[in-house]
Amino acid sequence: GKYVWNGERLLNRAEASVDVEDRGHTFGDGIYEVFRVYGGKTFEPELHWARFERSARELRIELPLPIAELERGVEELIEADGLAEGIVYLQLTRGAAPRAHPFPAEARPALTAFAKPLERPLSALESGTSVITRPDIRWLRCDIKSLNLLPNVLAKQEASEAGASEAVLHRDGVVTEGSSSNIAIAKDGVVRTHPANNLILHGVTRAVALRLAAELDIRVNEEPFTLDELYAADEAFLLGTTVEVMPIVRVDGRTVANGVPGPIARKLQAAFAKRI
Ligand code: PMP
Repeated sequence: GKYVWNGERLLNRAEASVDVEDRGHTFGDGIYEVFRVYGGKTFEPELHWARFERSARELRIELPLPIAELERGVEELIEADGLAEGIVYLQLTRGAAPRAHPFPAEARPALTAFAKPLERPLSALESGTSVITRPDIRWLRCDIKSLNLLPNVLAKQEASEAGASEAVLHRDGVVTEGSSSNIAIAKDGVVRTHPANNLILHGVTRAVALRLAAELDIRVNEEPFTLDELYAADEAFLLGTTVEVMPIVRVDGRTVANGVPGPIARKLQAAFAKRI
């Protein structure tokens, strides 16, 4: 969009700048959130803010403003940009300081936020998508939404080059999540998804989907599943802020069940669409 919010004011994007020794830039020492905006309003803001607060706490980065003021800033950004459908990217780093690994004594955490129009992926939601699988080479704190996304970037690039939309990650054959989404399967009417521990990001969409499943009397088992169980699933779907509830119809070139989105994905999609 036209504006950047820095926690103090809205700047024209061309006038916004980042210090070359900002620790986000030199160390990836920071966190972020991506909010979905539908009809000019953030979707499930409480869950995003709770995660943002937790990520900051885990990395011992101090919030520059109380959550209520951060929320107001994001709303003003959406308003100034005239954003109806899209996302807001919000990033907080430990701030700028002469480059040295230990936390600097004097740095002030640096906030940046911008908005971007984005349409819902309606045709893929209807027809389903293809994914590949790749080893999960990330660290053991994937629950922190940190700026360190190189393994995710490399995996997503491989997916793109393979003509797939997502790379589903696994540790020794145990599926964790996608490079920028969570994943669930359904087998014999029961949904399975990796527990929200240190090995996955605790997705907002995942949490919403689990809530909707409970309302719809769909059984859910928060237990890890294997690559073989993914290949043999009745259904599989990605869960994420931009992909929503995205049916997977192809994994590593093999069709999932009969290659069309299944009934549980459809029920969750319908319930999700009502919440938008
Ligand atoms: N896992 C990873 C690694 C992600 O980057 C994302 C996207 N933020 C998700 C899961 C899905 O989380 P959410 O539903 O909050 O977008």
